[in-house]
Amino acid sequence: METPVNESAVLIIGAGTWGFSIALQLARRGFTGIKVLDASSFPSSSAAGNDLNKIAEEANEPSDDDSDEDYFWNKVHQLSMETWKNDPLFKPFYHATGFIMAACGDRAYEHCLKYAKSEQADLIPLKSKEHFRSTMPKGVLTGSFPQWRGFWKDGGAGWVFASGALREMYAEAVKLGVHFMTGSSEGAVQTLLQSSSKDTIIGAQTADGVRHKASLTILATGANSDSLLDFKKQLRPTAWTLAHLPLAAEEIENYRNLPVLYGVDRGFFIEPDAENHQMKICDEHPGYCNFIDVEGELRSVPFARQQIPKDAERRMRRLLKETMPQFEQRDFSFARICWDADTVDRLFLIDWHPELKNLVIAVGGSGHGFMTNPAVGILVADVVENKVEERLKRMMRWRPKTSVHRNWWDTQNRFGADGKVMDFQDVQEWTTIGEGEKGDLCT
Ligand SMILES: Cc1cc2nc3c(=O)[nH]c(=O)nc-3n(C[C@H](O)[C@H](O)[C@H](O)COP(=O)(O)OP(=O)(O)OC[C@H]3O[C@@H](n4cnc5c(N)ncnc54)[C@H](O)[C@@H]3O)c2cc1C
Repeated sequence: METPVNESAVLIIGAGTWGFSIALQLARRGFTGIKVLDASSFPSSSAAGNDLNKIAEEANEPSDDDSDEDYFWNKVHQLSMETWKNDPLFKPFYHATGFIMAACGDRAYEHCLKYAKSEQADLIPLKSKEHFRSTMPKGVLTGSFPQWRGFWKDGGAGWVFASGALREMYAEAVKLGVHFMTGSSEGAVQTLLQSSSKDTIIGAQTADGVRHKASLTILATGANSDSLLDFKKQLRPTAWTLAHLPLAAEEIENYRNLPVLYGVDRGFFIEPDAENHQMKICDEHPGYCNFIDVEGELRSVPFARQQIPKDAERRMRRLLKETMPQFEQRDFSFARICWDADTVDRLFLIDWHPELKNLVIAVGGSGHGFMTNPAVGILVADVVENKVEERLKRMMRWRPKTSVHRNWWDTQNRFGADGKVMDFQDVQEWTTIGEGEKGDLCT
């Protein structure tokens, strides 16, 4: 039997955070014939962005005097925050409730000091439990904050309602004519299709055997991208851990419009969502990998799981004990591991593939790819139209030289837990919430 063929002008692989932003931006610029494939039905349960909320922060104005890296981040934040604050689609989801960056250990606190020094906004130093408690309504932060020190940015930062924004981006893209094909059969890409000369990508083949041909293919499959293309060690799939803490309807009055409390070596929480009154809690650490021997090489291979290691739960309960002990013993209502792809320098990787024609890569969220997703859509569309600013182009280029001697255990300027990258292969005990689900491999 012949393999069925399906044609489109633009094929985006991955309907996650970046895939939506790219589809929306291209459609808004007038591109037609856009098709998006995803291995999960919408919203993808394994997408990093399918989450209650994410931290969002405004940055300094980009300046010619910035280092290339600072310029990149300032520009990316500027493009993103302009969208979150002014674009009618994004605006309802940004809550500028403020942001507290704090630490307990000395090295982690040095990181906070560096952050405070680089900020143009006025920050309020927090040095005692009374200082911390004063940042939220009375009765919220009742903990003793042992060794906590930090800074409070009262505005210009906060959080975005992540899954709500994804839903709207999806709806708007559909309205603009983008075609989505999702699910483990018709949406799961198994392989990229190459021309007979092997120098051009002509689309992708899904699990149901359909060959989706396209003049332009954009790969945006997040932490799973490594399984579809040889990234030459530029990507390290790394996972973090999150849980939801349910509040009763009568409790939440006091827990609205709270600044995000982010302890760089402890973890963070974001106020309860409006719909189900659940507070998202994350412990902070350099990340978990899942190291496996793949054809003689050590690689981190992602898998989905709606459970977290017992150690992660212990760290979250310590965070609660130190900040909001009233919730230390409360059962969580949901937990999962959540993967992202780390580049060596944690800068994005958005570029034309240097050897395979008609293929654009958009990967490497590196822990900050949600708040910046509006910029990602703009930058990818600029790359496609070959009009991206030279300085930005250099920072997000295909750069395998940076990963030749990649140290998979590099903590990449992250703190918490034992200060080391952890390996899921060493995890003995998992926390089960409700029925608890073991997931499948992302692939
Ligand atoms: C716990 C945690 C907390 C975070 N907090 C923040 C934060 O506060 N602020 C912030 O800005 N960023 C945060 N991030 C980072 C941010 O979520 C990511 O950088 C961003 O979501 C990455 O987007 P993506 O599109 O690359 O990946 P994803 O959103 O994961 O999307 C990838 C998509 O590809 C699909 N896919 C995978 N394989 C295939 C295949 N073979 N075929 C078809 N489809 C496939 C998946 O189903 C998924 O929908 C956090 C990340 C984690 C893990």
